[in-house]
Order: sequence, then structure tokens, then C-alpha cells
Amino acid sequence: MKVTRQPFDPGPAAWLEILPAASAPTPLEGKQTADVVVIGAGFAGLTAARRLNQLEPKAKIIVLEARRVAEGPAGRNSGFMIDLPHNLASKDYAGVSDTDAAQTAMNREAIAYAAQAAEELAMSDEAFTISGKINAAATEKGDKHNRDYAIHLSKLTEAHEMLDAAQMRAISGSSYYRSGLFTPGTAMLQPALYVRHLARGLVESGVMLCENSPVIEMRKSNQNWQIITPKGSLIAPRVVLATNGHAESFGHFQRRLMHIYLYASMTEALSPESIAKLGGSERWGFTPADPLGTTVRKISGTGGTRIVVRNRFTWSPKRTVSPDKLNAIAPAHDRSFTERFPNLKDVKMEYRWGGLLCLSWNTVPAFGEIDDGLFSACCQNGLGTAMGTLSGKLIAEMMMGKSSNSLRAMLAYPKPKRLPPEPFASLGAEATLRWGEFRAGREM
Ligand SMILES: Cc1cc2nc3c(=O)[nH]c(=O)nc-3n(C[C@H](O)[C@H](O)[C@H](O)COP(=O)(O)OP(=O)(O)OC[C@H]3O[C@@H](n4cnc5c(N)ncnc54)[C@H](O)[C@@H]3O)c2cc1C
Repeated sequence: MKVTRQPFDPGPAAWLEILPAASAPTPLEGKQTADVVVIGAGFAGLTAARRLNQLEPKAKIIVLEARRVAEGPAGRNSGFMIDLPHNLASKDYAGVSDTDAAQTAMNREAIAYAAQAAEELAMSDEAFTISGKINAAATEKGDKHNRDYAIHLSKLTEAHEMLDAAQMRAISGSSYYRSGLFTPGTAMLQPALYVRHLARGLVESGVMLCENSPVIEMRKSNQNWQIITPKGSLIAPRVVLATNGHAESFGHFQRRLMHIYLYASMTEALSPESIAKLGGSERWGFTPADPLGTTVRKISGTGGTRIVVRNRFTWSPKRTVSPDKLNAIAPAHDRSFTERFPNLKDVKMEYRWGGLLCLSWNTVPAFGEIDDGLFSACCQNGLGTAMGTLSGKLIAEMMMGKSSNSLRAMLAYPKPKRLPPEPFASLGAEATLRWGEFRAGREM
């Protein structure tokens, strides 16, 4: 079976660009065998390899990644590893109390596992820290979303704190926001640094990591899978597909996955004068009160002090987008930045990029054994830093015969629901996204 489409994300992976250069990649070459092959080195693939290595240290594990580690969505996201329900399709993230409690427990299992990795791999606070996040509201409607969400959190007995405009200004240096809702359990990542640490930890534990090794063909032969890359091939009895929406490029979950590009821009490193003008805390992270609004972070670390903004969504059923799209998106990012930080009007965006994420219509993962010896840890429904981590951990545990409440819960989800036929699916999705962005108003 030929892999129909290779991953593509427009623009540079800025989080990776601001790190020191990585050592030279080792692509797969020649004919090799392995006990387990993991395809995809994002949150799911790297975590699956880590957990497999912990459970079966003698197994020969090979991870194949089409690009460099962190060049894909794992190094393009906004770095919020969120513990609480965060349904991008909802009006205020809140869902149904009983499923929300279960989802929160799963997200926290992921964060705890990531925290353990961060400790064992001596990651800095810049790479991973549980510092919480703020849901920021710029409008009356956003403020109401926050208050409704706060009531929902009270029912779930979850810790939270409402912040007023002055407190928001003191944290961010921006007068743009009316209120904020702080919740303490989110881990904040420099996502490229985090996954790079995970990858290095694997290599140090004897896992073979082959970057620049896109799988172009895969077929079953007797009890084994044969996997072909441009320069090599592999035979293995067990394979983990950790390619998120690209599961569909491998012929699985056809017309059951929704592919959406998200876009972000990162400023140049702020000068000492700009940092002083801005004021506020050294680092902070704001998700928007309206799920289709603008995510904003102030980061400070290896690449200096910078602001990152993320907004706009485009529906991309073919899992590709024109690089020109970044030019079309740029004015929205610049507007969001200038409106929030009018005193930084001379600061330029240094990087602009997009990244593919995968949702399912019924908000379920594409998880489990999907053919003999072929395991899927895909479709993270936008919450991929946490759910990618969890699905990687749990797929490894499933392969090793372990059982747990969270594994049972993952396996109990129905299959991703089939999408309506084209052109209705695309028309419906486009209309929903554009209407949602319009309604987000000043939260954008
Ligand atoms: C701008 C942006 C902001 C985001 N913000 C957040 C956020 O704050 N919090 C959050 O939780 N999520 C966020 N996300 C979503 C998050 O990045 C993804 O959900 C997450 O990366 C999914 O993890 P994954 O490991 O399942 O897949 P990915 O990270 O996509 O990894 C899959 C890997 O598979 C590789 N691959 C695909 N096909 C092949 C092939 N044929 N051969 C070999 N390798 C292949 C790809 O190159 C890729 O590296 C954001 C996404 C974007 C784009």
C-alpha cells in the first residue's frame, strides 16, 4: 500500500528555529528488522516509544519520522498541555460534567507522565513547567464565557480564580482584556525543546530514531509488516501509527478524520527597551475565552523574550495548503498583536507558520489495534500535547498486555464518525469555521 500523502506544514517551525541547531539526522538506510516500529515522532510517537522502552527495554524499537523532530505540528503548537476540558468545537470549552471529569483525569495522567519524563530528562522550566494558564476575555461575551466556565469548574470542584482587568494588565502589560480565568493545572511547554528532549532520551536508552525517513509504502507480509522509506526498508511484527491525521494517508479511517490547519506568528526577540515598555510577568500564556479567538503567549528563554499569537483555522481535507496562505493570514495576526500591544508597534513578526491538526466529528480518538500487529495512536482532537502523550503511553501499554481504567476508556470510544459526503462536509466545515471566527469578534 503506497502512502498517498506526505506531511506538509507551511512556514518554519519557529519553536525549533529559535533553538540551537540539532545534531545531524540519521535516516533509515538499507534493510533492517525491529521488534516494534513507531511511525511519527510527535507527542504520540515519542511517548509510545518511551513507554515501550520502559516496559520492554530489550526490544529493538525504531522510530521513523518524515522530517526532523519538532519540524511537524509537535514543534508548531502553542505549547499548552491542558488538564481541563478544552473542546475547540464548543462555545466556551465546557462540556458535560461526567465526561469532563473523565477527560480531565486522562489529561492529568498525560501531564503526570510528561512531568516524570521532564524530571528524568532534566528538562528546564522553559521546556516544561506546570504553571497554569489563563482563559483571557476581551469582550462582554468572552467574560460571560469565562463566568459560565467558572461555574462549570465549581461543579467539578476544580480550582480556579477569576482575574479582573487590572490583574490581567499587571500580568501581560496589555489593557486589552476585561477578565481572565486562571486554572493551575496546565503545563506550559516550549514544544520543540520538550520533544527534542524526549527524542534525545530515547536515543540514549537505545531506541533508534530515524529522521528524514518518510514512510512511502507499507504492506503486510506473513506475520510481519514491511515498511519502505526512500533509502531503506524495515521488517517488524508490530507497528505503531502515530501520524495523527496522516493515518488517512496510510489508508485508515478514510473520511472519518477532519484536517484543519492552525496558524501562528512569533515576534523577533524583544529589545530590553521593548521588554521594559511592555512590563508584566516574565512568561505567561492566555487561551482565548472564545475557542476561535487568539491564543497569546509571552515566552522568555533560549531565543530571548518574544510574543507568540495564534489564530485562524482553515479546513484542509487533502492535508495540504498553499504556502501563500501564510500571507493571507498575516494581517489577522498583526492586527491581533497591535490591538493587544499598541506600545510595541515597532516590533516585527520574525516567524509565521501553520500546522495540521486532526479532529473527529464525534470528538473521539482513532485508537487501538486496527489490523494484526498495527496499532493506531492518532486523532488528538486539538488537544494533542496531552492526548497525544496519553494515546502514545496507552498504546504501548496495550501492546504489552497491560490494562488500566484509562486504557479501557480509550478502547470504549466509538470509531470516529463518518463525515458527510463532499461537497457538503467541506461547505459545512468552512461555514462553521468562518461563522465562528466572525462571532469571536474582538476575542480574535
Ligand atoms: C498552531 C498550532 C497550535 C496548537 N496549539 C496547541 C496547544 O497549545 N495545545 C495542544 O494540546 N495542542 C495544540 N495544537 C495541536 C497539537 O500540535 C497536535 O494535536 C499534536 O502535535 C498532535 O500530536 P501527534 O503526535 O498525534 O501528531 P503530530 O505532532 O502531528 O506528529 C505526527 C508526526 O508524524 C509524522 N508523519 C506523518 N506522516 C508520516 C510518514 N508517512 N512517515 C513518517 N512520519 C510521518 C509527521 O511528520 C509528524 O511529525 C496546536 C497545533 C497547531 C498547528
